[in-house]
Amino acid sequence: MECYLDNSATTKPCQRALEAAAAALSETWGNPSSLHRKGIEARELLESCRRAVARTLKSLPEEIVFTPCGTGANNTAIFGAVGALRRRGNRLVTTALEHPSVSVCMEKLEREGFEVVRIRPDADGNISERDFEAAIDARTILVSLMSVNNETGAVLPFDKIREIIEKKHAPALLHVDNVQGYLKLPVFPGELGIDLMSLSAHKIHGPKGIGALYVRRGVHIPPYIMGGGQERNICSGTQGVASVAAFAAAAEDFGDTKTNLRRVTELNRFMRAGLGDFDGVRFNSPEKTLPYILNLSLLGIPSQVTVNFLSMNGVFVSAGSACARGHRSGVLAAMGLPPERIDSAIRLSLSRFTTKEELKYCMEFIETALKTLRKK
Ligand code: PLP
Repeated sequence: MECYLDNSATTKPCQRALEAAAAALSETWGNPSSLHRKGIEARELLESCRRAVARTLKSLPEEIVFTPCGTGANNTAIFGAVGALRRRGNRLVTTALEHPSVSVCMEKLEREGFEVVRIRPDADGNISERDFEAAIDARTILVSLMSVNNETGAVLPFDKIREIIEKKHAPALLHVDNVQGYLKLPVFPGELGIDLMSLSAHKIHGPKGIGALYVRRGVHIPPYIMGGGQERNICSGTQGVASVAAFAAAAEDFGDTKTNLRRVTELNRFMRAGLGDFDGVRFNSPEKTLPYILNLSLLGIPSQVTVNFLSMNGVFVSAGSACARGHRSGVLAAMGLPPERIDSAIRLSLSRFTTKEELKYCMEFIETALKTLRKK
């Protein structure tokens, strides 16, 4: 048996995505900017995919900009927002939990002279909206936060920020990195006053190397990737129509958010109940968590040792976060967890395809690991 529990790193492409990509590569391979029939066919497919992705956000098709990946969407949003509003203020508000595709941009802007305020989580990993109230002022030009943290599953108060921006009379654009929350939580940017929102296909059983940025109608940002003016001149480059087609197919295939959430919540409870009985297990995911992610420490076993042991037995999990390879997790450190807890942390991340049998199989090997590999 094999058990893949690293769905926050990436997901297995679904059948519909594979079929959509194959059909586009073999039949609809024209350049969507070409004026002849091959181009028109590719353009029609591209625009029908844009409509499909827009439907999942209850947004307008013209509010969807395809990007090279989630990282591309985050970079485009941040540098675009700052480029648009830099004359109106100097403060950027974000959190200490962000993915490097946001945090590294913030570091760069800080070196260029912007004031970056990073909101820290409490010991449970929760980020409080009150801290945003204190941080956002009338000179704030961008608030950028993730909907769901990729390491712990913490759900951030992204739905409360627009109100605070209005109250503080800030000119700020609101950017939400919804790469981990997309389709797993109901997040409709138009209803929440979100200006910019990042998505990535490979977290929802689509292909890697394709993402999207929601850009609210009326929001104008300068391009980050410049060239031929594709994607409303926000993200130039000939669109990867096959990747876009697979992205849209995966989004359409994902199923009902609430139904999936109920099922995965039950799986998460099952896992917590089983693992909680083992000596040496500590849960690091906060209470308000997306149930697709469970972060825990196996005290006394370095993360990489657990990952290798489980991998040898066909169970695939990650040490903290796939992006944090070889580095101590900044997210768990920001929560104030002690080094022994951080260094023994693993992340189990589920998908809508995960079964109870797979979880039982994984838990069996975690129990073996605790009995045989633990340094006391
Ligand atoms: N944002 C978050 C929260 C992520 O978890 C990831 C990927 O793990 C990204 C952004 C980057 O997405 P991509 O891998 O498509 O560049």
